[in-house]
Amino acid sequence: MRPLQMVDTKTQYQKIKKEVDAAVLEVMESSMFIGGNVVNTFAENLARYNGSKHCIPCANGTDALQIAMMALGLEPGDEVIVPSFTYIATVEVAGLLRIKPVFVEVDKRTFCIDPASLEKAITPKTRAIVPVHLYGHAADMETIMSIAARHNLYVIEDNAQAIGCDYTFSNGTVKKTGSIGHIGCTSFYPSKNLGAFGDGGAMFTDNDELAAKLRMIASHGQSKRYYHDVVGCNSRLDAMQAAILDIKLKHLDEYIAARRKAADFYDKAFAENKSITIPFREGNNKHVFHQYTLILNGVDRDGLSQYLTEQGVPNMIYYPVPAHRQKMFDAFGGSSYDLPLTDWLTERVISLPIHTELDEEQQNFIVSKVLEFVNR
Ligand SMILES: *Cc1c(COP(=O)(O)O)cnc(C)c1O
Repeated sequence: MRPLQMVDTKTQYQKIKKEVDAAVLEVMESSMFIGGNVVNTFAENLARYNGSKHCIPCANGTDALQIAMMALGLEPGDEVIVPSFTYIATVEVAGLLRIKPVFVEVDKRTFCIDPASLEKAITPKTRAIVPVHLYGHAADMETIMSIAARHNLYVIEDNAQAIGCDYTFSNGTVKKTGSIGHIGCTSFYPSKNLGAFGDGGAMFTDNDELAAKLRMIASHGQSKRYYHDVVGCNSRLDAMQAAILDIKLKHLDEYIAARRKAADFYDKAFAENKSITIPFREGNNKHVFHQYTLILNGVDRDGLSQYLTEQGVPNMIYYPVPAHRQKMFDAFGGSSYDLPLTDWLTERVISLPIHTELDEEQQNFIVSKVLEFVNR
């Protein structure tokens, strides 16, 4: 059996090595390392794929979220509503800008922000909502967008885990996650569904004015070279990463299909087990399976995690501490929140290896080890 990994980027690379190596060499020969045609072409291709008018590349997904909040003019004292059950980056950038994160619950089935919980958290200071399409499942964007419209709020989608995910509205319109809110943000961290060979990120919007602001803030607040209109930052996607990502973008749909196939295999193996809840897939929301995450019922989760590790099965707890319980947010009253469902999930989730290169032999082994522990 090939060795098990949470993500197998190495085997994935072997399959596109020729193309990738040639593209990287070409960038080296051109010595256009920052900006230039390669970056612009990738941004145009990705905007088209995402169904967005503009794609503005940047250095990583965390920067994308920060620049989005800056471009929307969020200021110290403003409030943004965020799920606590997420990766820290979603919330950290608010803290950095002295914007108050207001933590709310997630939907127990989708792990994404719960619209009812979010609506209750709206105050006169609320300026924006940040839904996270966690594990690759789309948040309930139709309800979120209508709440936002009613209360005049911005929506920044954290699409770091769900690039390529189709969301279907009740009128039949299909849009990619990350193209629905005022700004969508994504990450090209190597393990993400569209992963670079280093860091990278991007922002999406259909609004020309916002696009210009995002671009300006990501480039030292410049409107033109050496004329700095606003305080910005330095956040760029480099040309080698763009060259690699442009090749991988052509394979993204096939990568997503491979992840779904692996998820189907796990689903079948675990569906009948009373101790295991398999990932929910809502009819109109396709899941792109950045993670394959189970909820355990009456099973010693940490015991299972340790057992799997001992048996050579990689596994992860995403995330062991919810954002509102992180020390980082003490100053924002994080510990005063009561989010029982978030706590409940935090204690019961476990993620298994999922990526584009899993084969049946590997999955059979993983499944057998999980069931060995759960059924004993
Ligand atoms: C990965 C990730 C980010 C941050 O992306 P980086 O490129 O690592 O900065 C933000 N939010 C979520 C949900 C993520 O998974």
